[in-house]
Amino acid sequence: MPHDGQTPPTQNTIVLGNLLELTAAALPPIDALLHTATERVKAVVTTDGRVSGALIEAHQTATHGLAWLATYVQALHQMHAWAERLSTAGTFGETEQLIHQIAFGEYLSQISGGLQMNQGEMLRLQDLGIGPADSGALTNPAIATLTQHGNTQAARTRLVALMQEHAAHVIIGASGLDDELEMIRDQFRRYAIEKVEPYAHDWHLKDELIPLNVIDELAEMGVFGLTIPEEFGGFGLSKASMCVVSEELSRGYIGVGSLGTRSEIAAELILAGGTQAQKEKWLPRLARAETLPTAVFTEPNTGSDLGSLRTRAVKNGDDYKVTGNKTWITHAARTHMMTLLARTDPGTTDY
Ligand SMILES: Cc1cc2nc3c(=O)[nH]c(=O)nc-3n(C[C@H](O)[C@H](O)[C@H](O)COP(=O)(O)OP(=O)(O)OC[C@H]3O[C@@H](n4cnc5c(N)ncnc54)[C@H](O)[C@@H]3O)c2cc1C
Repeated sequence: MPHDGQTPPTQNTIVLGNLLELTAAALPPIDALLHTATERVKAVVTTDGRVSGALIEAHQTATHGLAWLATYVQALHQMHAWAERLSTAGTFGETEQLIHQIAFGEYLSQISGGLQMNQGEMLRLQDLGIGPADSGALTNPAIATLTQHGNTQAARTRLVALMQEHAAHVIIGASGLDDELEMIRDQFRRYAIEKVEPYAHDWHLKDELIPLNVIDELAEMGVFGLTIPEEFGGFGLSKASMCVVSEELSRGYIGVGSLGTRSEIAAELILAGGTQAQKEKWLPRLARAETLPTAVFTEPNTGSDLGSLRTRAVKNGDDYKVTGNKTWITHAARTHMMTLLARTDPGTTDY
């Protein structure tokens, strides 16, 4: 049965024949390429059998680029797994097939031609120590077909036509998520349309905080306790549920969409590192949004490289005295509780 009114599978000249067989056949050669790249990069950053920080620094493009390549390869695996699941469920329609082949066509072309790590930095296979003798993997016939005929103008034009036909749908193409997650998506989509979108720009222009009634309503809908275990007053749902809720609320306004993730981060840290007493005290309050937390990590000179943070925490009786600068802290103006990252041992610069 076609899902949600989407177009059922069709065979036409734009969608590649045997698409799933082609994408399955493309995976082993790129896995092999990633394996070779990993070995080559490992060889240049290892000394005496250990990865060296100084060598990683000296070979930044290779190490950073290897992470990108691994991410692309993993993304293609996940795309293929998604397509297989839909195919088994009978929901791999024309829209989904086009998304799948365009993604494979584009990612495989970037892997062989140049992978754009940012606007000014392009990774080429030779940066990973891959030479003509190794990149033979990319001449595999399935990869050649997908790069040549996957992401074509015709495929993109047809996909855009389908997107316009289905413009009323929340998402284009089947997500492959289960019914419970799709119900959650619908609920938060409706809330964002009614209660967030019409007002968000005005809040922004007036530099106002998100109204407390919105926070109360979100709390009632369970946003702040979504992934907190039931024994601590939450719903015990998956991380995927937090992604879906954040995605839908963010369509209304990113400021509202990022609210739930504050509680998610705080709860995760308390679950992973807190004492039983801390869990019992804080988790139910976080789940009910009685306590609004923030995640306080970033410093003016320390973003991605959290290991070099400088904020100090010095033991003072039963307390810690904290000194330092933090920046970019979401919802800091209204927080009741901060999960704050600080250095307790000034003698180290390690992580
Ligand atoms: C809207 C918003 C809300 C935020 N909320 C919070 C919050 O609540 N709490 C909090 O603690 N922080 C928050 N942040 C901060 C955020 O986590 C940091 O901005 C982020 O970690 C990036 O750090 P940075 O801005 O210092 O950039 P940098 O780390 O300096 O990165 C700058 C550039 O260098 C590149 N780069 C970084 N590392 C490497 C590397 N090893 N190799 C090659 N290139 C590299 C990056 O890709 C980027 O292009 C928020 C940020 C924004 C924009």
